[in-house]
Amino acid sequence: MRPILATVSLNALRHNLAVVRKYAPRSKAMAVVKANGYGHGLINVAHGLSAADGFAVLGINEAVDLRDAGFQQSILLLEGVFSAQELSVVSSLGLNIVIHSQQQLTMLEAAALNKPVHVHLKMNSGMNRLGFQPEAFAHAYERLKACKNVADITLMTHFATADDATGIEQPFNLFKTATQGLNLPISLANSATILRHPQAHADWVRPGIMLYGASPVGDATAASYGLTPVMQLTSEIIGVQEIKAGATVGYGNRFTATKPTRVGIVACGYADGYPRHAGLVNSDPASGAPIAVAGKLTNTLGRVSMDMLFCDLSDIPEANIGSPVELWGKQVPVDAVAAASDTVGYELLCAVAPRVPMKVID
Ligand SMILES: *Cc1c(COP(=O)(O)O)cnc(C)c1O
Repeated sequence: MRPILATVSLNALRHNLAVVRKYAPRSKAMAVVKANGYGHGLINVAHGLSAADGFAVLGINEAVDLRDAGFQQSILLLEGVFSAQELSVVSSLGLNIVIHSQQQLTMLEAAALNKPVHVHLKMNSGMNRLGFQPEAFAHAYERLKACKNVADITLMTHFATADDATGIEQPFNLFKTATQGLNLPISLANSATILRHPQAHADWVRPGIMLYGASPVGDATAASYGLTPVMQLTSEIIGVQEIKAGATVGYGNRFTATKPTRVGIVACGYADGYPRHAGLVNSDPASGAPIAVAGKLTNTLGRVSMDMLFCDLSDIPEANIGSPVELWGKQVPVDAVAAASDTVGYELLCAVAPRVPMKVID
């Protein structure tokens, strides 16, 4: 069998949830498990995070899968429902829905449901993605309060700049002003807010990326927050080439050896989810992306192919065909590969391809 493997650690998930509790000890934690648990497998991560107070997903199918697997916690649909039929499922499964638009509000008012549903009323605090404008928020709340299909209401917003120097002060103030006098549970904080803005922890926090052991911010590592990587993406060396100075590597000759170089070929490519441009976006593309072979750090060479990539074995003479490779995980933070690819750890984790076998360990 092709040696690539994604190993998912339930223990690391439990550890990272404990880190959330440490940072936000007075808040309930709604674990965000959208995008197939950020690429780790929805049900896998739900088992690792079974101590969470709730789960947040996008599609109703994910909520059904969680209930089928026996999870009784609150489950929030982060984009709400897309049709009136979905509202019946929400009602019978006891789900929690975001209401972010007039259309969703009207749909809820018009529905005939067996049981009222739990609602997160979302305010647009400046991200200008989903949610009611601050000046429309109170009116939306009044309509929900009067609606027979509503069991209870939580107030929420989502910050666009919790992860950078801009911070959250302005949108947080907007939210506080728009919700003044409403004595209801509040949900505001993604991972960056949990780690950097304790004043906005509120009643519920919504951690995503930190649960998977990656950093939500560019200027601090996951390890510096005490987080542990959940996924280890590994493979093996399947070929070795000894090349002379002046020889090139891979499609487009994007790496030229300046000295005799021992090149390892790894069974992992962009069809596995490894970014094609890894290592080629920095000012010095010869530096590559970090990778570990036989337990030693080295770097990728040239352009990533569909099924394979290249790495430098010149300083790892013991490495040969069959040597273990870590693409990311314990030795190589996914965030370091992301930085060498001009993206974020979120994107790499979510993009791990279905053809990569996944192994769950405790
Ligand atoms: C994805 C998402 C989160 C989690 O964000 P992280 O940065 O991964 O912690 C929280 N809230 C909402 C509304 C989201 O869409």
